[in-house]
Amino acid sequence: MNLDWSLCEALKNTNVSGIDNVLHIYDVNCQYYVHLKERIEKNEHLKIDERIQLHHAIGLFHVHGHQDECLYRFATTYVPGAGVVDGEILETLWAVLNTVSTSTRTASLASRTELLDDQMGDSNFKKMLNICKCHLMLKFLQTTDFCSQICFKGKTIIAKYHRALDNATSSREYFDDLDRAAPQAQRDEWKESIEVAEKARLTDVDEMDYMLPQYTNGATLKEIEADMAKQDSRSPDPAADNGSITSWLIKGLKIEDSQFVLSNSVIVPLLISLQG
Ligand SMILES: [Zn+2]
Repeated sequence: MNLDWSLCEALKNTNVSGIDNVLHIYDVNCQYYVHLKERIEKNEHLKIDERIQLHHAIGLFHVHGHQDECLYRFATTYVPGAGVVDGEILETLWAVLNTVSTSTRTASLASRTELLDDQMGDSNFKKMLNICKCHLMLKFLQTTDFCSQICFKGKTIIAKYHRALDNATSSREYFDDLDRAAPQAQRDEWKESIEVAEKARLTDVDEMDYMLPQYTNGATLKEIEADMAKQDSRSPDPAADNGSITSWLIKGLKIEDSQFVLSNSVIVPLLISLQG
């Protein structure tokens, strides 16, 4: 209930008017969003504007601790339009708060709360001061080059934008190289399938399961051995040396295995030590 109320109030009071698509990132969204609509409809104190479409996602710090399916259903990486965003706010403060944590260890609960609250307030204040520093400079100087040089040294949102533009170019080149490795027909098929899944994601996140590995586990060596022995016993033409073909093949595989183990335990360390 507290969380539902916070979400509704945040959407009401944080100037999202005119924004119809809202990316809602929460650590356990895979469970939280399931009955969200019903909870809001049942409670007269909760309301979300009908025009707002929530896109539920999970921050990258947390999503890797979830089930495999959650990654493709909720990681911001796979939400169309989300861009490259970790979706974590409080966690990014840990590095700063760690430095003051020693002085809170022996403090009373009230002092500890006050000190941490003060530190977080200071961080928010600094963010507010710097968020559009370069935007104002840009307006004043009217030169993007000068602005980008200054921004690059800072951590403002504009600096991040310039960094993202640069990274987008190198990411595109990397992707194109990878993409060229697959045949055109396969690329078209993949593209169509993921576009269908992404379109359906808003109403049914399960559609993103298309991204999960599609393979099933292969047979074990023992199962292959048994299967081959069965086929071997039915064969009217036994091997020339009177031994079975199966045992000959299995022996070969075992020799190959031993070679691999030997190479890893003796030859590779030897090469490393010689290089060192
Ligand atoms: Zn999950």
